[in-house]
Amino acid sequence: MTAAIPILIFVFGLLIGSFLNVCIYRIPLNKTIVKGRSYCTSCNSLIPWYCNIPLFSYIFLRGRCLNCGEKISPIYPAVELLNAVLYLLLYWVYGLSVPLLFFAALFSILVVLSFIDLKYQIIPDGLVVAMLVLGVANGFYQTVFLGVPWQTWVIRFFAASVPLFILGLIFPEGMGGGDIKLMAAAGLFIGWKLILLSLFAGALYGGVVSIFVILVKKGSRKTALPFGPMLSLGIITCVLAGYRLLALYLSIIL
Ligand SMILES: [Zn+2]
Repeated sequence: MTAAIPILIFVFGLLIGSFLNVCIYRIPLNKTIVKGRSYCTSCNSLIPWYCNIPLFSYIFLRGRCLNCGEKISPIYPAVELLNAVLYLLLYWVYGLSVPLLFFAALFSILVVLSFIDLKYQIIPDGLVVAMLVLGVANGFYQTVFLGVPWQTWVIRFFAASVPLFILGLIFPEGMGGGDIKLMAAAGLFIGWKLILLSLFAGALYGGVVSIFVILVKKGSRKTALPFGPMLSLGIITCVLAGYRLLALYLSIIL
């Protein structure tokens, strides 16, 4: 009985992950995400439902299209699995609760945003708007039901976006406007402490990955590294473990 809820959450995460793949593929091409069946991107044949079961079809088909035998990108099952694991981690930290719903939505948007940013070096405005709408809904929930003063929304919105904007003025080549908008919208969700910590964590991840890329590819320092996925990873880390990290940090300092 106790295993039923996590299993349901995992399966739900896989199904949503399957939809996220559609978003990652279609949003940058300006195609609709609500209509149209799935089809093979190589031979254009429609994918029958039994070959479109998240994760399991990929394993069952050994990563190849049933019609043309062309390799299916492992990114598809990876996105599905990633989304399901993130939902499970949220359930583990927050239990069945309202924050679980809001953070699950936030994480899924971050997954789509990160994969699009990795591939195209762009953060689509539509995703930022979706995050902003959900962030405002989250703010309303906290103000109406938890008595959080509405003025804190303003602080949350600007806490990380303003420092990032100033950083962008100093280092104009590394940062995009999308990153600043992302941190403003995500701030509405997680509050000023965690969004500032997310910025710090994102910069740290970015630094580590940059060093890794330079060592492995022996590339120049100019290899453009999208910042969106690093910030997203920072936000995810802080939603899952932010207050624990803050407490640990303070206990080391004091
Ligand atoms: Zn095919």
